[in-house]
Amino acid sequence: MIEIKNVSKWYGPFQVLTDCTTSIQKGEVVVVCGPSGSGKSTLIKTVNALEPIQAGDIVVDGTSLTDPKTNLPKLRSRVGMVFQHFELFPHLSVTDNLTLAQIKVLGRSKDDAKARGLKMLDRVGLMAHKDKFPGQLSGGQQQRVAIARALSMDPIVMLFDEPTSALDPEMVGEVLDVMVQLANEGMTMMCVTHEMGFARKVSNRVIFMDAGKIIEDCSKDEFFNNPDARSPRAKDFLAKIL
Ligand code: ADP
Ligand code: MG
Repeated sequence: MIEIKNVSKWYGPFQVLTDCTTSIQKGEVVVVCGPSGSGKSTLIKTVNALEPIQAGDIVVDGTSLTDPKTNLPKLRSRVGMVFQHFELFPHLSVTDNLTLAQIKVLGRSKDDAKARGLKMLDRVGLMAHKDKFPGQLSGGQQQRVAIARALSMDPIVMLFDEPTSALDPEMVGEVLDVMVQLANEGMTMMCVTHEMGFARKVSNRVIFMDAGKIIEDCSKDEFFNNPDARSPRAKDFLAKIL
């Protein structure tokens, strides 16, 4: 579903990604972890071409992001993304947040968009809040709406960038529960997260990054249960967060 091939990227003179290569199969859940500043957010943003790359290639569902003929807005509309800071439109109701992109980008009718959006809202357990505004919801609820909004676009893959790290601790569980449910339903997911409980429970693979490089790319069991085989940096990281 996603092929990341020898990707390098610079911000001006600073090389943020160095020769990153990995792939994610359909239905796979891959957790990306690593120290702050290691390039996790940058890597995940390159997957829907929010950040351009200067070397290598990324292929999503058979479509190369570096091919000038690729319709990036169209491709992006099918790659769901949920960020650390819920980016709901504050001046729109929950329902309007759910329907806007479906209508504007996918060209769905208002009724179709609403039906799809409310179905996804129900899936994240927030139907009762459909007429509220984001400011009237808790952080955890806003993040669940953000997930429902992404799902309303019928994504072929979901990208998460630390979706729970800005939340109060008591709200982390409700967001992770939705992500676990998605994973169990077979959604292809790439998740930057330090929630190792989530990684252990549902991920298939763990990627560990350090200083712009993919240092580890192995099965969950290998990552967590065979610490002696890990690189010193990954071991150090695991020791700090587990
Ligand atoms: P992570 O998500 O792992 O914390 P990031 O991908 O956000 O790491 O950042 C990796 C490195 O790139 C950091 O050193 C950061 O300061 C730098 N960086 C991120 N975004 C930009 C930018 N727009 N311009 C310049 N440097 C950036
Ligand atoms: Mg980040």
